[in-house]
Amino acid sequence: MAPQETSKAPNFIRHMVAEDVRNGRFGGRVVTRFPPEPNGYLHIGHAKAISVDFGIAREFGGRCHLRFDDTNPTKESVEYVESIKADVRWLGFDWGEHLYYASDYFEQLYEWAVQLIQASRAYVDDLTLEQMREYRGTLIEPGRESPYRNRSVEENLDLFARMRAGEFEEGTKTLRAKIDMASGNLNLRDPVMYRIRKASHHRTGDKWCIYPMYDWAHGQSDSIEGVTHSICTLEYEDHRPLYDWVIQATEVPHVPKQTEFARLNLTYTVMSKRKLLELVEEGRVSGWDDPRMPTLAGLRRRGYTPEAIRDFCERIGVAKADNLVDIAHLEHCLREDLNQRAPRVMAVLRPLKLVIEDYPEGQVEEMEAVNNPEDPAMGTRRVPFSRVLWIEQDDFRETPPPKYFRLSPGAEVRLRYAYIVKCTGVVKDPRTGEVAEVRCTCDPASRGGDARGRKVKGTIHWASAPHAIAAEVRLYDHLFTKPDEEADWKAALNPGSLTVLTGCRIEPSLQGAARGSRYQFERQGYFCVDPVDSTPARLVFNRTVGLRDTWAKIEKVEAK
Ligand code: ATP
Ligand code: MG
Repeated sequence: MAPQETSKAPNFIRHMVAEDVRNGRFGGRVVTRFPPEPNGYLHIGHAKAISVDFGIAREFGGRCHLRFDDTNPTKESVEYVESIKADVRWLGFDWGEHLYYASDYFEQLYEWAVQLIQASRAYVDDLTLEQMREYRGTLIEPGRESPYRNRSVEENLDLFARMRAGEFEEGTKTLRAKIDMASGNLNLRDPVMYRIRKASHHRTGDKWCIYPMYDWAHGQSDSIEGVTHSICTLEYEDHRPLYDWVIQATEVPHVPKQTEFARLNLTYTVMSKRKLLELVEEGRVSGWDDPRMPTLAGLRRRGYTPEAIRDFCERIGVAKADNLVDIAHLEHCLREDLNQRAPRVMAVLRPLKLVIEDYPEGQVEEMEAVNNPEDPAMGTRRVPFSRVLWIEQDDFRETPPPKYFRLSPGAEVRLRYAYIVKCTGVVKDPRTGEVAEVRCTCDPASRGGDARGRKVKGTIHWASAPHAIAAEVRLYDHLFTKPDEEADWKAALNPGSLTVLTGCRIEPSLQGAARGSRYQFERQGYFCVDPVDSTPARLVFNRTVGLRDTWAKIEKVEAK
């Protein structure tokens, strides 16, 4: 990989790696890895880790491995493996030929475990998990040694081989590292290295019935692959002494170095795979790719761009202290990206009929509309205009409040790219008394929006009734009502996180819009054609994000 994006903001990891390269540590090489466990879909927090792992490798001309940490067969699956690969690629990163699985190393890990037993640094324990917890002690009390701790090397070798051969039931035996039951660091109180799991593994099938624990597999895998900088999140800081211990205790080919940074937390969502899985399994969302989910699959379906996510990860930076990032910041990055490249169109989400009484019946004019004022190269298009239009229900009030600059009886408004019209009255539904139709007249000389000296403050969007196409639009709001995650987290699920609007009317240029394509609906927000449910015959749009930028406001206030 050639060094690409330079001139990035400094952070402690960049600084550390730069130092190591300068000092010739690891021979100046930089090898990182992203090590997901294939037990769920990737989320925006993983995107941060991916940006750091792959980003650092790219910046320093090194390489980044994608390694599946597949040590727990009961929770893992091929579906997750495939989704993770697709998501990393979509984000714009490439592991080249360096795709690995911890399960590739099971035999080597087993051999090293045997070496540890031979060196009296590991033993087979008969304590149950519960007993082990009891013996473990607490932060203030030292642990107690297991009565099986001083088994002979021969007995341990024999028992360990028989564990592998499947002679013992789950939960009856473990292999533990013999370190220090009185250590101030609980991770060093004889951590479990292997447990018995009589489950089929998605790659090794029934070959194994003992599986290595993360702490045993991770450092050794890093070493096998020649990883120089093993970058992970803060919860592993207390595991680092163990990481170093297992490396030193075995004859490994290479000594990697672990460094931790703070994980990303976002407001109004949850980031634990266990919780996300619960939402999926309980049907509280439509799946891992529900556009309300913080998963990359969900964000992609919602209309997020990989560029916006990468930009966000870069802007929030890398820190050593835990923090909670405002989701408005993520939305801000997305708007900035879409503002530049999403073509603007007119779509009426909650239609109300507008009839121009003095516009000839049957006449159609093609109005010229700008595709993106931010980018003249995106050109213009023609939008048909006729006597009967759809406008937004919100853009008409029979009794307007103060400062309401849209349509109301007697008031004038500009129809975007068309004429200035004046409201002459309404037609009501005789049964319900609701406004069924707004009537107006049109000033033919105002074509293109020329107000000719008079004050017309409001401009509204519209769609020509005989030409518009019908669509379904899904509006999304935060998944949770509270910014912080609470103990009773599911109680804070937002009942209004999804609103489905059917019968929306959209300008005809969107006929045949490709799945996944993104637009700005003028005055409404950014929308994308749903990649799953939309068909040419029945267009479905997802609201990616609204137009109002709360983050820009926050920044302004903070700058003062
Ligand atoms: P779980 O939530 O099940 O404990 P996890 O989110 O840690 O799991 P992994 O598959 O182990 O899932 O994560 C792979 C990598 O992504 C790890 O190195 C982890 O540190 C990193 N990671 C996970 N969540 C975040 C996050 N919120 N912010 C930054 N990095 C993260
Ligand atoms: Mg994890």
